[in-house]
Amino acid sequence: MTGLEVRGLRAGYGGSVVLHGIDLRVGEGEIVALVGANGAGKSTLVKALSGLIEAQAGEVVFDGEPLSRLSPRERVLRGIVHVPEGRQVFSGLTIAENLRLGAWSQRRRLDARALEERMARVCARFPVLLERLQQPAGTLSGGQQQMLAIARGLMAEPRLLLLDEPSLGLAPLLVMEIFRLVEGLRAQGLSILLSEQNARLSLGIADRAYVIETGRVALEGRGAELLGKPEVAERYLGVGKAVSAAGSERYGELTKRLGAALGGGSS
Ligand code: ATP
Repeated sequence: MTGLEVRGLRAGYGGSVVLHGIDLRVGEGEIVALVGANGAGKSTLVKALSGLIEAQAGEVVFDGEPLSRLSPRERVLRGIVHVPEGRQVFSGLTIAENLRLGAWSQRRRLDARALEERMARVCARFPVLLERLQQPAGTLSGGQQQMLAIARGLMAEPRLLLLDEPSLGLAPLLVMEIFRLVEGLRAQGLSILLSEQNARLSLGIADRAYVIETGRVALEGRGAELLGKPEVAERYLGVGKAVSAAGSERYGELTKRLGAALGGGSS
């Protein structure tokens, strides 16, 4: 079959096991969301797929080819590209230099002209980057840096994009922009595995989704179907009235305690 197929994937760090046998599939042109609490293992899964950490057991197959023995670079050459959590742009390098690095694994196949053409094509989606190509990446806002991280990933011309927490820490308008961008990429035929804490939005655009709990798939289904499940709503869509009221009470209480601890009190 085409696309990504994961069977019984076990992975972790050193002697510790974080993923306890994950089964998952990303078909061609699908957005598949990974939803789960902090520490559930979403980033670990994404890293095991891009080859940044080694699988301890199980199989990862892309377009019928087993990936387990392939290095991250070899996986990029097959079209699997990881946009890491926290953006990780090179802040001292210019935006153009960051983008060129995205195509580094293909440098032998691309002459300077082809590279510039590719950059122009990618930047057509990101006017904010196009205007600032010679600016150090560190001068960009958080949202712009996230755009750059995605654009850098697109420079490798992926077939499967692994997006780890692209909306983390961004203002709501930028979050919407990122999600619209992700939908636009799917419309172009790209497959996307989207690891996100914003479950409402990611399930909203996902064709299918997996809920990860302590390194296991707890639920799977169509995005819209999972959005409607009470157990998902309760655990992962906790932005409803009841939860936010409780949250703000807790926040108020914390501010009071902090004020008291600092000796000024708080009213
Ligand atoms: P988050 O959204 O907070 O990143 P996550 O679902 O992506 O959550 P992971 O980052 O995959 O979760 O973490 C899963 C578990 O692996 C956690 O218990 C975490 O402490 C552990 N872990 C993550 N990175 C490392 C590391 N480099 N070395 C050791 N343990 C790690």
